[in-house]
Amino acid sequence: GATIGILGGGQLGRMLSVAASRLGYRCHIFEPGAAPAGDVAFRVTTAPYSDTAALRAFAETVDVITYEFENVPTSALDLLESLRPIRPNRRALAVSQDRISEKTFLGDLGLQTAPWAAVNSESDLRAAVARLGLPAILKTTRLGYDGKGQVKLESETDIPAAWAAMDNAACVLEGFVAFDREVSVIAARSPDGSVAAYDPGENIHRDGILRTTTVPARLTAGQRSDAVLLAARILNALDYIGVMGVELFVTRAGLLVNEIAPRVHNSGHWTQQGCSVDQFEQHIRAVAGLPLGDGNRYADVVMENLIGDDVLRVPALLKERDTAVHLYGKGAPRPGRKMGHVNRITRG
Ligand code: ATP
Ligand code: MG
Ligand code: MG
Repeated sequence: GATIGILGGGQLGRMLSVAASRLGYRCHIFEPGAAPAGDVAFRVTTAPYSDTAALRAFAETVDVITYEFENVPTSALDLLESLRPIRPNRRALAVSQDRISEKTFLGDLGLQTAPWAAVNSESDLRAAVARLGLPAILKTTRLGYDGKGQVKLESETDIPAAWAAMDNAACVLEGFVAFDREVSVIAARSPDGSVAAYDPGENIHRDGILRTTTVPARLTAGQRSDAVLLAARILNALDYIGVMGVELFVTRAGLLVNEIAPRVHNSGHWTQQGCSVDQFEQHIRAVAGLPLGDGNRYADVVMENLIGDDVLRVPALLKERDTAVHLYGKGAPRPGRKMGHVNRITRG
């Protein structure tokens, strides 16, 4: 059987390798850090991305390379791509690694985003605040996740401290969007160009971290089809292969794209209990060149992340009806760390 290479050994890589295993594939995970959750794979290599011998040895054991984390250095990707196909492709990765290239790409496609301005100095920030108004959010263009590398500005007196907190990183200032709700579309595209999207989920964040995703989202039929069609446009424009998460703000002026993630997405975990083929299997099908699976939603589900000490509730959660507990095998809980999630079926 074929072997799928996965860059990244976090919980997403772990759940991808479980899905691949069910389809008869083997997975080889390449993890640049401490392999926190990837040890269910057939094989795990733990080495830095600068270790070209390890990268080459990894690539030679696999048929296709995918990833669960978008911050893979360009030099490593260049080497890997010379040996095996990388799916989703390099352009999808490059576009979504940088918030400015992402917003530029989305704008060129005719999609709406929050108003934004590039910021590389305190005086840039002052000018951007004058143009976009307040409140606004300053974000590093690269490497941010779970709300890290962001600060909200409420008044002009916040400017010096906000800029100082960014440690001279390249940044983008975004106007604060007064959204009605946040939703995301998890969509997949296969090498033959077919696209399948899951029903949008409604997301609640706290302290910049996703807490819950609820399906169905509270959307009108028109908003639901707009969301799905918009996601399909993004995948088609990138000639994308695999699953993507598209985060949206629902506003009175229509749907705005917050960001895109070129991988399986936390807000798609509900599909494990809500669909015959979940997002992890769908991604493996796409990158392996199998037909996309049936992603119709057959249940209403609330996904809740178990963050930090939330895992202490697991003994009780294991006794709840209509509840599936998923744990990532990460060991000791730390504040803000995603330890697992639960999917509660609220209507079957
Ligand atoms: P992720 O873990 O999803 O990659 P991230 O660190 O990239 O998170 P964002 O998605 O940019 O962060 O922001 C996290 C949350 O902060 C958003 O889901 C939204 O709730 C809020 N937020 C971000 N940008 C804006 C904005 N311009 N206006 C209003 N709220 C925002
Ligand atoms: Mg993000
Ligand atoms: Mg986000």
